[in-house]
Amino acid sequence: MTRQSVSVLGATGSIGDSALDVIARHADRFVVTALTAHRQWEKLAQLCRRHRPDVAALSDPAAAQALERALAGQGLPTRVLAGEQGVIEAAALPGARTVVAAIVGAAGLQPTLAAALAGKRILLANKEALVIGGAVFMAAVARGGATLLPIDSEHNAIFQCLPADYSRDPAATGVRRILLTASGGPFRRRPLAELASVTADEACAHPNWVMGRKISVDSATMMNKGLEMIEAHWLFGMSREQIEIVIHPESIVHSLVEYVDGSMLAQLGHPDMRTPIAQALAFPERIDAGVPALELVRRGSLTFEAPDHDRFPCLDLAYRALGAGGAAPAVLNAANEIAVAAFLGGRIRFTDIAPACAEALARLPARTVRTLGDALAADAEARAVARSWLKLPVAA
Ligand code: NAD
Ligand code: MG
Repeated sequence: MTRQSVSVLGATGSIGDSALDVIARHADRFVVTALTAHRQWEKLAQLCRRHRPDVAALSDPAAAQALERALAGQGLPTRVLAGEQGVIEAAALPGARTVVAAIVGAAGLQPTLAAALAGKRILLANKEALVIGGAVFMAAVARGGATLLPIDSEHNAIFQCLPADYSRDPAATGVRRILLTASGGPFRRRPLAELASVTADEACAHPNWVMGRKISVDSATMMNKGLEMIEAHWLFGMSREQIEIVIHPESIVHSLVEYVDGSMLAQLGHPDMRTPIAQALAFPERIDAGVPALELVRRGSLTFEAPDHDRFPCLDLAYRALGAGGAAPAVLNAANEIAVAAFLGGRIRFTDIAPACAEALARLPARTVRTLGDALAADAEARAVARSWLKLPVAA
């Protein structure tokens, strides 16, 4: 069997770890073409020794030099690329059939777009790319003849529960709506008055999932679910009215599809990203992901509740942004990235995140987004508004 060539963008992160774990379990099926990261050159050097990619790229040029020195004379086939352009080049290498898009945040947009235009099979984790670039990104997928396979656990669950020939038209296949499940994060029961003083480490202590720090904070504010609602809109052609969010604290049911006949299909599993990643890597086949079977009897019960919109104002902001359309989701995402980085850096309170996003949405018009340039301009404007509202230094 010819092995499937896979590039992993964001290889040193949490999704990168899970993807490379699955890949390493199936050396007979997969071969690594490129690995990319931001500046963690030591970890990337280890990954290069282990997976022997053709290319390794670091967006930080000084880190790329350090990687080049670390790999010199080791008999590896790996060529090192540097800078944002190096990561973009790595994303579109002709040698790779599949690209795992797992860079965090807006930084992933251009590499993922390059993979789309190069016609790759894209395993999408980087939801921010779709939130910022929506229409532009989907047009690039169509133009490049790329295939999008969602690995965000909720979207992968929906993908598994939709008909095999589903093509972004719910009415044509008797789909009434989808339900995105959410754990509610670490602050689901925390007294509201305490939220202003929670620390970054508390916000990152997710009850069920181990993830990067940015998405962990997004889970604590539930902005993650808001971004996922917008992600689902683009992936599956659902209107915002067709996407419901349900709190499910156990994180076992990863999402559901409701059909017009009253059937609801769900996908269940342990909260372990290797399951959706393995499903998408091998699709339409199934492979071992290293994840144990779910023991339902031992689990006992699964619970569901409605989200509390006062506790989680980011949910309404996301619905509002998708309703406004155009650049509004890009504005929301950019303001959120600035606010989350400031919170993780100890500069603002947890409860400043949502108002900073609301301010950017209120201040900036939802301009039409026709090109990548339009999306990037909205992103830059929203970062400036959020920085100024949060009283952060200009380059923070
Ligand atoms: P992480 O912080 O653990 O890893 C991020 C990766 O992106 C690292 O390899 C880092 O080097 C790279 N990176 C960061 N900034 C970069 C830049 N400016 N240029 C190039 N590369 C850069 O994040 P993560 O938790 O793995 O999440 C990655 C993406 O997957 C996010 O979009 C997140 O929303 C999504 N996602 C993650 C999970 C999860 O369980 N971790 C689940 C669903 C979706
Ligand atoms: Mg998710």
